[in-house]
Amino acid sequence: MPTAHAAIITEANSPFTIETITVDPPQAGEVLVDIRAVGICHTDLALATGAFGTQFPAVLGHEGAGVVEAIGEGVTKVKPGDKVLLTFNSCGECARCRADDPSYCEHFVPLNLACMREDGSTRLHRDGAAVSGNFFGQSSFASKAVAHQRNVVKLADDADLATLAPLGCGIQTGAGAVMRSLAAQPGQSLAVIGGGAVGLSALLGGKLCGCAPIIVIEPNESRRLLATELGADHVIDPADGDAAEAVRRVVPSGVDLVVDTSGHLPAMISALGFIASKGKLGLVGVPAVSDATLPMPVFQWLTLGGTVRGIVEGDSDPDAFLPELIAYHAAGRLPFDKFVSYYPFEQINQAVADIHSGKSIKAVLTL
Ligand SMILES: [Zn+2]
Ligand SMILES: [Zn+2]
Repeated sequence: MPTAHAAIITEANSPFTIETITVDPPQAGEVLVDIRAVGICHTDLALATGAFGTQFPAVLGHEGAGVVEAIGEGVTKVKPGDKVLLTFNSCGECARCRADDPSYCEHFVPLNLACMREDGSTRLHRDGAAVSGNFFGQSSFASKAVAHQRNVVKLADDADLATLAPLGCGIQTGAGAVMRSLAAQPGQSLAVIGGGAVGLSALLGGKLCGCAPIIVIEPNESRRLLATELGADHVIDPADGDAAEAVRRVVPSGVDLVVDTSGHLPAMISALGFIASKGKLGLVGVPAVSDATLPMPVFQWLTLGGTVRGIVEGDSDPDAFLPELIAYHAAGRLPFDKFVSYYPFEQINQAVADIHSGKSIKAVLTL
């Protein structure tokens, strides 16, 4: 039985501890990946609080990148030795998956957030006892992960795994929200709420689409400076007063496209005050409580002809969209590496502390 070292969450809100686990060999349709790098995403930290009913102990991690070590029966997409990027999982059979729209797979929640396989089993054990795994079909905070044929994307042999790892969730979510979900057109104005990894990726997606002007609303000064460096035309500190007024000073008729990456209800409500006629509001940020409700001013909204759009993983179809983003990065047009900091895997708790303090925007662990 292969063994691995994994960062385990033993109970809600406990720090990660690096321990030895056993990893079952891959079964039909599964891929065993030797993980070389893994990004830390907001959803990892949300599940670590126990808020999604995760059974502990658990191995999280869902921006893995590594090398295929073994494949299960029926796997044709990759072979041992291939470099791969791991991303979200999907069933491949429902109507959404058949329409190449897997981020809205009818089974997205059980396949990605249940931390167990559909039959209730796990591939991971510690001292013979089950450890929850299969998070986003991977649980890649470990030196080995069992993924599925559908949620691995083959990379070129010379691909840099540490650089590309965060594309699998955070970067594709932000960039895809603008490029795919809202299908931004050249010359459309764009406001991004939140200047974290997803928000800055939305900004970069807006640059790629030719949006102008691009406004980033973010309370942290260093993140506003970084947004400017990455091409934001205007940055707004919400602490300076009414954000809607500040946006309308830049674009008096309102903004065509708004992407909320903050999950912060007052920020989303403020967006209702600066959206343009026929404007679209994309909701990407997950609120802290699952029953958070956005009050809609119905008359205003219907006379605007506005659209509110929920967004998962930037509407990514990973086999097509991730290679597209990799090509943009190689051409220097998606410089997300400017907001990534690297940590040795063993320093996962330091990386999490730096994310919470704002010192790190996107942390990637290397193994
Ligand atoms: Zn599906
Ligand atoms: Zn994520």
